[in-house]
Amino acid sequence: MSADALATLPPLREVIARHGLSASKALGQNFLLDEQLLDRIAAIPGSLDGERVYEVGPGPGGLTRALLRAGAEVVAVERDRRCISALAELAEAAEGRLTIIEGDALVVEPPAGAHVVANLPYNVGTALFVRWLGGETWPPWWKSLTLMFQREVAERIVAASGGGAYGRLAVLAQWRSRTRLAMKVHRSAFVPPPKVMSAVVHLVPEAQPEGVKAATVERLTAAAFGQRRKMLRRSLGAVPGAVEALERLGIDPERRAETLAVADFVALARLLDS
Ligand code: SAM
Repeated sequence: MSADALATLPPLREVIARHGLSASKALGQNFLLDEQLLDRIAAIPGSLDGERVYEVGPGPGGLTRALLRAGAEVVAVERDRRCISALAELAEAAEGRLTIIEGDALVVEPPAGAHVVANLPYNVGTALFVRWLGGETWPPWWKSLTLMFQREVAERIVAASGGGAYGRLAVLAQWRSRTRLAMKVHRSAFVPPPKVMSAVVHLVPEAQPEGVKAATVERLTAAAFGQRRKMLRRSLGAVPGAVEALERLGIDPERRAETLAVADFVALARLLDS
């Protein structure tokens, strides 16, 4: 977007009023309007100049504007038809750097080689996140993920072993990606403010450990944390070979899942896959 086109864009509040974008609870809409905050979120992936960005749930387009200001080429998918005309105005100002897809992100095929940036409703965000982290194809189609979650979920994603926040989400996120909690966002930053605090997590894919299948890591973490209060001997009892693998690795089967490091789950999976 040229500086001129940027300068002529009306304030977001005016766009929201003109297009009647009262926040819909059913669609989990809480909008961010503070340009400085939005620029800070758009800076989390690093320089986006000339990079492709896949934005999920742009709403009235505040974050989209920040991504365009950062020099990105944006593909944005939004399911609320009311937002599409507001976003079309933005696409015009973006002079070819913004493509809007009206649709459901749970169904739309994402573009390859993109940084993903999204401020999504909690349920959709978690469903997409788990899907994007899974599968045997690695490195994945995305270059990085920058996602707003409610703070408690963000803390579960980056959690270290040993605490109550550590679980399936942490292992799935960390076994082949680098994760960090990039920014805490106060509930008052949103219009309307949600009940809970938020945070942005950032993930970059790393090399997948050799000899380990994603399906095995998924099976192990589902079993181990599905019954997280039980000893591993019990919780992993239904996964063939898992208790023997624990013993071969010198891991006491009386321990509980949350005491195992991510590397322990990887080592277990490798033994099962060998
Ligand atoms: N990104 C904007 C912002 O930061 O101000 C809007 C954030 S709002 C929390 C979430 C947006 O995601 C809404 O615009 C909502 O319509 C959209 N959304 C919800 N479910 C979606 C889905 N399944 N696919 C695409 N967009 C969705």
